[in-house]
Amino acid sequence: MKGRNQRYVYSLLIGILVMAAITIHHRPEPVEKSAYLMGTLVRVKAWGASAGRAVPEALEKLKRLEGLFSRCLAGSDVSRINRAGTDGVSVSEETVELVGEALHFSQLSSGAFDPTVGPLVRLWSIGTEEARIPEENEIRCARRLVDWRRVKLVGERRVSIGRGSLVDLGGIAKGYAADALRASLLRAGVDSGLVDLGGNILVFGSSPKGSRWHIGVQDPLKPRGRVMGVVELAEGAVVTSGIYERFFEKGGKRYHHILDPATGRPARSGLLAVTVVSVEALDGDALSTALFVMGVDLGMELVKRLEDVEALFVTDEGRVILSPGLAGNFSLRAEGYSLETW
Ligand code: AMP
Ligand code: MG
Repeated sequence: MKGRNQRYVYSLLIGILVMAAITIHHRPEPVEKSAYLMGTLVRVKAWGASAGRAVPEALEKLKRLEGLFSRCLAGSDVSRINRAGTDGVSVSEETVELVGEALHFSQLSSGAFDPTVGPLVRLWSIGTEEARIPEENEIRCARRLVDWRRVKLVGERRVSIGRGSLVDLGGIAKGYAADALRASLLRAGVDSGLVDLGGNILVFGSSPKGSRWHIGVQDPLKPRGRVMGVVELAEGAVVTSGIYERFFEKGGKRYHHILDPATGRPARSGLLAVTVVSVEALDGDALSTALFVMGVDLGMELVKRLEDVEALFVTDEGRVILSPGLAGNFSLRAEGYSLETW
């Protein structure tokens, strides 16, 4: 009798221990929300007890940032900067920070990235009903107005631009926003999360599988959602700029939305897409746009100079070229491409 009782108590104890272990290891279902913001589909996913509150809060934060950085909303900081021109105008701290970062990447890329591409963006209107191939003289006139050195950060929070210039932060704002969302989610106490702003992906904390995160990279020649390959990382940003995002076609030629400030036309650098893997999504966003304009040789030279930045170039000949730090962390999944390391 005594033995049976003891066995009973032991099995009960083991049962309790197993249950406790399951409870400790059980990750509650993530909270996921999507919204259409900053001209793109945004997806925020978070794990942890506070995720239910944190995710909607993060989306609210994003709405606020859209209200500052949008080129279209009349009351945004960017619209106010563009209206004020050489007079300058006081803007929010976030806008000052983002403009400062944009100028930093302009200098770093020798102007391949330029936040004053506004006149060219407006002229080509790629991604809108008004998209067209402009006349040569129109391109020449607009190109003269593109010069990041004419943006001045004066006083504490004042921004002024050159006469006729227009600021467009479309090449960097989503990265800034992704970092801000991560900060907001972490502040709210979530354990881990994934933020996806139309191809600007940022992951933090441990992945749902407990291993490293696997992030799919869009196949630039296939419909949205078809993966060309997979990047593996512990945490950080995976940001892609490609010819498939916004474009129109005329006379069998594709005109996409990444403009080369030097020519005033969609960049023809022999690339279909550039993916940057970095700690901050902001760096990844600015750099993926810049590297796309620069092309493989100049682009890889720049990547080599930067710490914590890796890149993957996809050429129009189907070559997938990895920076050395990415070798071993990328697997090709699609037919028709060849893989090499720089
Ligand atoms: P992304 O998709 O991040 O490569 O950014 C492309 C967007 O950035 C375009 O839709 C424009 O609004 C803007 N843009 C285009 N060309 C440039 C450039 N050379 N430098 C900075 N921003 C650009
Ligand atoms: Mg970008």
